[in-house]
Amino acid sequence: MSQDRRYSFEFFPTKTDAGHEKLIATARQLASYNPDFFSCTYGAGGSTRDRTLNTVLQLESEVKVPAAPHLSCVGDSKDDLRSLLTQYKAAGIKRIVALRGDLPSGMGMASGELRHANELVSFIREETGEHFHIEVAAYPEMHPQARNFEDDLRNFVRKANAGADSAITQYFFNADSYFYFVDRIRKLGVDIPVVPGIMPITNYSKLARFSDACGAEIPRWVRKQLEAYGDDASSIQSFGEEVITQMCERLLQGGAPGLHFYTLNQAEPSLAVWNNLKLPR
Ligand code: FAD
Repeated sequence: MSQDRRYSFEFFPTKTDAGHEKLIATARQLASYNPDFFSCTYGAGGSTRDRTLNTVLQLESEVKVPAAPHLSCVGDSKDDLRSLLTQYKAAGIKRIVALRGDLPSGMGMASGELRHANELVSFIREETGEHFHIEVAAYPEMHPQARNFEDDLRNFVRKANAGADSAITQYFFNADSYFYFVDRIRKLGVDIPVVPGIMPITNYSKLARFSDACGAEIPRWVRKQLEAYGDDASSIQSFGEEVITQMCERLLQGGAPGLHFYTLNQAEPSLAVWNNLKLPR
């Protein structure tokens, strides 16, 4: 496997001190695998503004792995965004994941001065030039609110043209959807790396809920098998590990430029896949 592929792990900022300590312990464990970076999600509308900032700073300074904050534009004013960019730049952060975001239910209609991620990418470039490596989101199975696949592809191209350096995909369980997406954007003249986002399978009901919300399709054969395991957590885990490992093998053999693991703040499920793939440490 090529050594110049990039591997990264994503966390979400926690609400409690105990949760935060667990996150940092997980990050320390993952750091020993020498990932290229960690990323930390952002609650659209600023609900995790301080927690995302503090987590990213601690990952950089104490865990000593480059950390990338996610930043979303719905519900945040340009002043809010500018202030965060200034703090990240001052702290030596070099990478940002730029998103539109989804406001949590109960926070009302989307507000904010920037409506789409391409506008956020342009804003970051206007404010900070080439300081940040900007990641954007990609949807091999189409964003759930897109009018259609072609429209979503055009919107992805806008993000690349606005100055995104690379992309991380929504998770999926069908490698062909990834290859098709990459092929289509290449034909539209976009050459930035598109790194598959990988969701380890550990819990069927949570996964089904997430997948419905974000538009990721769980193939029937996977769903039926997981349903049949019921509460048998260890069978779910070993079947999930096998399915995800095989998909990652196909992705890497087919030229994927790396993998980004959605850890949900747990080390073991991602590391099991990492070890099966014998990825470099
Ligand atoms: P956009 O690229 O703006 O696209 C959103 C929708 O609008 C799409 O349907 C698109 O086709 C359409 N569209 C885009 N541009 C235009 C335009 N100019 N005109 C008309 N239509 C347009 N959410 C969070 O809240 N916090 C996070 O930290 C977070 N991290 C994520 C990390 C990754 C890797 C991924 C894949 C998703 C993440 N999300 C996060 C979820 C994301 O915010 C949602 O999927 C959101 O609904 C869309 O964000 P986006 O950046 O893809 O939006």
